[in-house]
Amino acid sequence: MKVFKFGGASVKDAQAVKNLGTIVKHYGSNDTLIVVSAMGKTTNALEAVVNQYANGGQGLQAALQVVKQYHKQIILELFLSEAHPAMLQFETTYKALLQFLETNTNTNYDFSYDQIIHYGELFSTQIIGHFLNQIDLEVSWLDARNYIKTNANYRRALVDMQVTERLILPLAETGKLMVTQGFIASNAEGFTTTLGREGSDYTAAIFGACLQAESVTIWKDVPGVLNADPRYFEAPELLERMSYNEAIELAFYGASVMHPKTLQPLQQKAIPLHVKSFLNPDGVGTVVHTQAGIHPQVPCYIVKKNQMLIQLSSLDFSYIVEENISDIFRLLHHFKMKVDVIQNSAITFSVCVDDLYNTLQDVVAHLQQKFKVQYTTNVALYTVRHYNTQAIALIESNKTILLKQRSQDTLQIVTQ
Ligand code: ASP
Ligand code: MG
Repeated sequence: MKVFKFGGASVKDAQAVKNLGTIVKHYGSNDTLIVVSAMGKTTNALEAVVNQYANGGQGLQAALQVVKQYHKQIILELFLSEAHPAMLQFETTYKALLQFLETNTNTNYDFSYDQIIHYGELFSTQIIGHFLNQIDLEVSWLDARNYIKTNANYRRALVDMQVTERLILPLAETGKLMVTQGFIASNAEGFTTTLGREGSDYTAAIFGACLQAESVTIWKDVPGVLNADPRYFEAPELLERMSYNEAIELAFYGASVMHPKTLQPLQQKAIPLHVKSFLNPDGVGTVVHTQAGIHPQVPCYIVKKNQMLIQLSSLDFSYIVEENISDIFRLLHHFKMKVDVIQNSAITFSVCVDDLYNTLQDVVAHLQQKFKVQYTTNVALYTVRHYNTQAIALIESNKTILLKQRSQDTLQIVTQ
């Protein structure tokens, strides 16, 4: 079996859905499970519905109309009739959403969020199911909630892999083409849960691992994984192959490769992960697999802007040792600072952090009780994996370097 995942951009309009159909016909018309996200920016549009609903806002009807009209438009373009079964099914599913909004009495925001947000994935997979039938592909529509079981931690539910594997495994025998939703799951009480924003890749990995699939392919609007972000670097190169560990390393430093959570189930079962372009499906793309290293062996650049550099020194010239360092980390952890780089000498300790929750002033106030504190906001952190002299020169040119750290494989510099 193969698993294909199509994200929002790959089903954002009627043309994109047709393109998906062509890809499925050519590359996976049987023995394939297709995981699909909500169309385009539907999840954001449904978040607006959730917020209006939760706050009793005036804009609830308008927010719902955005979602409704967008899908109806795509259905009309694909099936050319208001009375097509795809339209009727959409109306029925949409009514179920309205029904929830009218009858729900649970005031837990995260609960309501999941009960509303998952309609994006239901709409998209229902439409795609009809479309694949229209182009003569026989497809079974599966409700992912019957297969992926989680705890009740709404919006970031934890998957029960044992139960999930038992439920998914029989699908391996069907030999059919199947379509299901990314991102959504259910708990023991039967309520819908979700796996966190952008969770559809993770869904594809779970199905791939539980089915012992021959491969998982993520179809995207880029040629594959690149060695640099085209917004900051000229002429990035395609990385054709890399190990799971390399992909996890790149993700750790902030590259938008796959989330480690997505890679882990695949790594455990040694299932190759392909990242390919739905605009150029014959392109080689990237494969993440067990073989060591990365190919081509080029430097990989990762930039994180708007970081904070905090430099501490002791008030009395005493050494900064284990005890102080553990206090510093406890504090950073408490204020949800994400630590990017650390460097210490006898009497100074530097740490570059991502101030995700705007807690810098609190952290600094606490640190000042024990240390002399200097900090610089709005610094950039450049990480280069597999650096060489040229890469170092490129990164260092025309910048004020505040901190530099090198290990065998990785160079990191903090600049202003
Ligand atoms: N539709 C969800 C989101 O936009 C899940 C996904 O696309 O992966 O976050
Ligand atoms: Mg999406």
